[in-house]
Amino acid sequence: MTNPILAAWQTPFEIAPFDAISDDDFAPALDTALTAHLEQIEAIADNTETPDFDNTIGAMEAAGEALDKVLSVFFTVAGADSNPKREELQRDFSPKLAAHFSAISSNKALFRRVADLWARKDELTLTPEQSRVLMLTHRGFVRAGAALEGEDDTRMQDIKARLATLGTSFTQNLLADEREWFMELSDSDLEGLPDFVVGAARAAGSEKDVDGPVVTLSRSIIVPFLQFSPRRDLRELAYKAWAARGANGGETDNREIAAETLKLREERAQLLGYDNFAAYKLETEMARTPERVRELLMQVWEPARAQAGADAETMTQMMQADGINGPLEAWDWRYYAEKRRKAEHDLDEAELKPYLQLDRMIEASFACANRLFGLDFAPLDIPLYHEDCRAWEVTRNGKHVAVFIGDYFARGSKRSGAWCSAMRAQAKFPKEQAPIVINVCNFAKGDPALLSYDDARTLFHEFGHALHQMLSNVTYESISGTSVARDFVELPSQLYEHWLEVPEVLAEFATHAETGAPMPQEMLDKVLKAANFDMGFQTVEYVASALVDLEFHDGAAPADPMVKQAEVLEQIGMPQAIGMRHATPQFAHVFAGDGYSSAYYSYMWSEVMDADAFAAFEEAGGAFDAERAKALETHILSTGGSREAEELYLAFRGKLPGVEALLKGRGLIAA
Ligand SMILES: [Zn+2]
Repeated sequence: MTNPILAAWQTPFEIAPFDAISDDDFAPALDTALTAHLEQIEAIADNTETPDFDNTIGAMEAAGEALDKVLSVFFTVAGADSNPKREELQRDFSPKLAAHFSAISSNKALFRRVADLWARKDELTLTPEQSRVLMLTHRGFVRAGAALEGEDDTRMQDIKARLATLGTSFTQNLLADEREWFMELSDSDLEGLPDFVVGAARAAGSEKDVDGPVVTLSRSIIVPFLQFSPRRDLRELAYKAWAARGANGGETDNREIAAETLKLREERAQLLGYDNFAAYKLETEMARTPERVRELLMQVWEPARAQAGADAETMTQMMQADGINGPLEAWDWRYYAEKRRKAEHDLDEAELKPYLQLDRMIEASFACANRLFGLDFAPLDIPLYHEDCRAWEVTRNGKHVAVFIGDYFARGSKRSGAWCSAMRAQAKFPKEQAPIVINVCNFAKGDPALLSYDDARTLFHEFGHALHQMLSNVTYESISGTSVARDFVELPSQLYEHWLEVPEVLAEFATHAETGAPMPQEMLDKVLKAANFDMGFQTVEYVASALVDLEFHDGAAPADPMVKQAEVLEQIGMPQAIGMRHATPQFAHVFAGDGYSSAYYSYMWSEVMDADAFAAFEEAGGAFDAERAKALETHILSTGGSREAEELYLAFRGKLPGVEALLKGRGLIAA
């Protein structure tokens, strides 16, 4: 019998036949698909005909159809509906997939064909998209080290292997330090803590086999403890333990690992011909150079530091009123900020929630997409991998555009967070394929299901990514939808969050679950104001981390990263009562792998653009300005990675973004 994953899918819109697939089908399907893909790649590499676009790049784009099917089905269920069998499969699949893709990127015969095409690119008659795909394919090979020979090649392989090991150790050490430390609380130590914190502390205690509540270093416990506990002595103990993770000496210390990682990254970049790692890393980003990243961060830094300074003064006075003298410390900030929040913007979540019904918020996200892009959504009744999943056919003027799937509720089998993925990406080559896009969230179930304001923003955020996939209109899959630079990919999603805040959208869709009344204006104002609370602190802790990350990788690798970190903080005048959001021994974004190394700035880069892009609507006819919406689709949502991000943004906006809109949005300068 044919494996149902590999067979032709005779289903509506060729959605994976989840009800016919069992967990035993995954491993054999993956093996068959990997072998088939490798055979296709070897056939391309060994082709004796002169390389041309179709027999090399086109053939690579078309290869791996079976592998795409297996991976899309498997990673959908492994993330959103796992079980012990699927976890075991995932552990087996990771090294297999890593070896598979590394074998392709180090295939010298294949690289020679790509390099030959690249050298002759001006004589080939290519479409703009084909030129782009050729450039990206060639660059991908070169950056992976395919052009290196002899000793350099061997050294590159060794460096990559060592960096992978260091990254794993860094993560494990951090986890070990987080697990190790806890502080028992007596009944009187619970003073001031809300029920949810006490509950979490008790649950953590029983997990540690302690009879009673404990504070642990998990973010979900330590942060509310620092926010709510009036016990300054306990806050200090807990904060110091939290700040010391990965720097406690002994076997789990991450400081040496950080130093070695930075050295090896520098060597890797230099083997590839770059001055340093930041130059290598930023080459493929919209920012392009360390100078531009630094310029952005420093423009945000000064107003953020000024705001944080003013906030620190207010809170120092509050502390003195409590009879405590001396400076405000890092373990005081969250406590006094919370007191202030309560006094200035008390917003009762319980009162707000009935206005944010999940079903109405889904309708709101669809209605905005209808007004902006003319999309229509009709429910689809098809079997998916879990009964909580819902599906819609997305059409425009009666023509099929995509299938959209929403899997909104939290459950034990789902990993935390929220994400968007394409179960099938849009492409026209080798044949037309319409996208199938899924949003996965972790909202609490209920009847009706009600959201917090953060949840509602998450829903709009993920739907913004979904639009980037669904409206994609390119030929080649490798540049489709969200296949764009890391510092550009959050633009459509963060931008879409702005429509949730449009008063007419909330007036229509934020209606009370029982009375049907729209959200009162006063409540809406409070929600919007509370979103900017303590932004000086949040911006300072983030920007400080981003600057340290940048300076680590721009220039010679520091012999002692902790010394370098101290120098950078000294130079920018880091306020003493604010810690970095991620200090070096805990900076997993940068040291657990190299995804965000010298790229931690990218969250803010995207935010600069989303604030500026929404301002473009406001400057035109308002949030639903038809011309702006058309430009957004034409130049950003439909174009995937077919052009440089900067060109796309310029085509949409006519100019590059400044930081003003972001500073206003964060309340760091007057609106
Ligand atoms: Zn996102």
